[in-house]
Amino acid sequence: MGGRESTLVLLDENGIRCDGRKVDEPRRIMIKAGGLKNADGSAYIEFGDNKILVGVFGPRDVHPKHMSNTDTGILRVRYHMEPFSVGERKNPAPSRREIEISKVIKEALLPAVILDKFPRTAVDVFIEVLQADGGTRCAALAAASVALADAGIPMRDMVAACAAGKAADTIILDVNNEEDQAGQADMPVGYMPNLDKITLLQLDGVLSPEEFKKCVKVGVDGCKLVYELQKKALHEKYFQNGGDQ
Ligand code: ADP
Repeated sequence: MGGRESTLVLLDENGIRCDGRKVDEPRRIMIKAGGLKNADGSAYIEFGDNKILVGVFGPRDVHPKHMSNTDTGILRVRYHMEPFSVGERKNPAPSRREIEISKVIKEALLPAVILDKFPRTAVDVFIEVLQADGGTRCAALAAASVALADAGIPMRDMVAACAAGKAADTIILDVNNEEDQAGQADMPVGYMPNLDKITLLQLDGVLSPEEFKKCVKVGVDGCKLVYELQKKALHEKYFQNGGDQ
């Protein structure tokens, strides 16, 4: 964060970012519900140049059995980046970063899912990052919510997600890879709009208290945009295609 010397202009004199966006403009987002016939639920998201596929299984028996809970179903999340998802081939072994992102996505989804009707079972969420370009945890979280809904898992609300951040001393919406590497702050936000609850908030970088508040607000506003596209994806599958996918 901010450590790399670069000639990259993050924000030009007209307030335009390095990828042509305005400060409050998200990247192009496309979400599709369903698509994997062997999973109980699935979703695919393109969030700028991020491309992520999510498959959900369950509620199903837990293996190993000792991990099961007699009072409730459990949620398990695996975030995985394909070796070809980044410029330099990524080592296929699970990295510390992937383990951390799996954990934060699981914790961001837990307040949304209602698993107490499914004791001794597990719901498994498999996230495959096919192409990464900054903001994969938010894109993956948003797609995972749609895949869980597609699997028919009872939920209090869907979790929408979008990052905000700071680059060129300006608070920006939806941080891309260059802004993440050369900018001043990256704040991934996960948010349930109907319940008005934040379920993911991380911060890499330094912000003043005022900037922090503004960044949270910008991130939440971004989540609200993403939420509309999540609902649209489910609507398209279940009400426009006759639920045949
Ligand atoms: P997020 O993807 O949620 O923003 P990070 O901030 O950790 O998570 O990563 C930012 C970006 O850095 C990723 O989206 C990806 O484009 C890039 N990246 C992550 N891991 C690697 C890696 N092993 N090799 C090359 N680029 C990577």
